Amino acid sequence: MLRTILISLSAVSISPSIQIDQAGDGWHLKADSALQLIKSTDNKKWNLVDSTCDHISFWKSDFSSCDVDESGRSTIYISDHDVKLNSINNLSVVIVHESLHLWLRKKGISLDPKKEEELCYKYELEFIKKLPNVEPWLYSHSIEQIKKNEK
Ligand SMILES: [Zn+2]
Repeated sequence: MLRTILISLSAVSISPSIQIDQAGDGWHLKADSALQLIKSTDNKKWNLVDSTCDHISFWKSDFSSCDVDESGRSTIYISDHDVKLNSINNLSVVIVHESLHLWLRKKGISLDPKKEEELCYKYELEFIKKLPNVEPWLYSHSIEQIKKNEK
């Protein structure tokens, strides 16, 4: 599943509940800012992130992803592509989106892949609507993905 090379394996602990790997040029600080933004924007979605995600890492890919290992430890993998878009709003949306995938996986809920994506994009859209000063492309990307997956 995780074929892409991990960018960094050295870990630092910034957030008390979620471990963030150190990578790139202060990428862990960006991920931490994204977590803080989720916390200050939407309490319910923050609680889901906080309770389902143990670890945030980075990988070289066009898309972000997540995984739960054999020990039950869950990781959100933020793609270098998402980091390079240079938007904390985008990183927070990615984390919110992936946290719902993780929650479903941890609950053992198996959905049709397109149905699951539709659900996760609708979930992130709820969050996007609450973000102050959100980039229009974030909003349109989410709506596009919902339409693509509900077909
Ligand atoms: Zn997804």
